[in-house]
Amino acid sequence: MNPAPDRLTFRGFEIIRLLDGTFRVDGGAMFGVVPRTLWASKAAPDRENRITLALNCYLVRTPDATILLDTGVGPDIGRRYTDFYSFDRRPGLLESLAGLGLAPEAVDIVVNSHLHFDHCGGNTRKTTAGTWEPAFPRARYIVQRGEWDQAMHPVGRDKPSYLPARLKPLADSGQLMLLDGNGPIGQGAEAVIVPGHTASHQGVRVAAAGRTFFYAADAIPTAAHIGLDSIMSYDLYPVETFDSKKALLERAEAEDWVLGFSHDLAVPFGRLRRVGKRLDVVAAS
Ligand SMILES: [Zn+2]
Repeated sequence: MNPAPDRLTFRGFEIIRLLDGTFRVDGGAMFGVVPRTLWASKAAPDRENRITLALNCYLVRTPDATILLDTGVGPDIGRRYTDFYSFDRRPGLLESLAGLGLAPEAVDIVVNSHLHFDHCGGNTRKTTAGTWEPAFPRARYIVQRGEWDQAMHPVGRDKPSYLPARLKPLADSGQLMLLDGNGPIGQGAEAVIVPGHTASHQGVRVAAAGRTFFYAADAIPTAAHIGLDSIMSYDLYPVETFDSKKALLERAEAEDWVLGFSHDLAVPFGRLRRVGKRLDVVAAS
């Protein structure tokens, strides 16, 4: 099977899926209340009931900026997480960027959908002294204020998902820009709150030449999550995910958006297609 194309072009805009490798998680946790007999036909589990997921990042090249959406788990996640999730960073994000001939200095803007460790691990890098510094030295990092506050002071159920010491240097370096809700990111690109996975989880909409790309991040982690009931057990506010996903899908169908998924290995770009009452995803390019 030929893999779906990893690149989408609008006039003057280019969007490229970059991998930061893959990992494995429990299939049941990924599909919430959906029974195994239904999800297993879309995502084949291994003997330990785990499914393979991508760590997708998207590079958006507009006429005036190079924007990176999410940064994967990064190279320094450590043994405990690697053993548990079987992270396989071949290729890692920086290798994926280098494959396009781009150094970290080429990135103007980094946008994090949220700050769970598998979406911002590449934001910073470890120095020889064991401290952390921004991995993209010229970039502005755009994060929702509510998400930043949660990540700096993690509490409760979400606590293991945040690694604040690795993020704080972004504020110290002056590269952090906090948004309060929806807001512009650059020419043709805007942040859009899609709450549910976390309270301030955001997607990114890129619109140009009459076409729209929407990175829904963990609101729709794979094409198999297009069904409204397919909501991850990891979501803090699943009822909000249901509502925000429903609104997003209605608009995406009406306006024929191309969707990007945070964790789909086989389908980096998808378009919605209605089959009777059901929505389906077809690979898009
Ligand atoms: Zn995720």
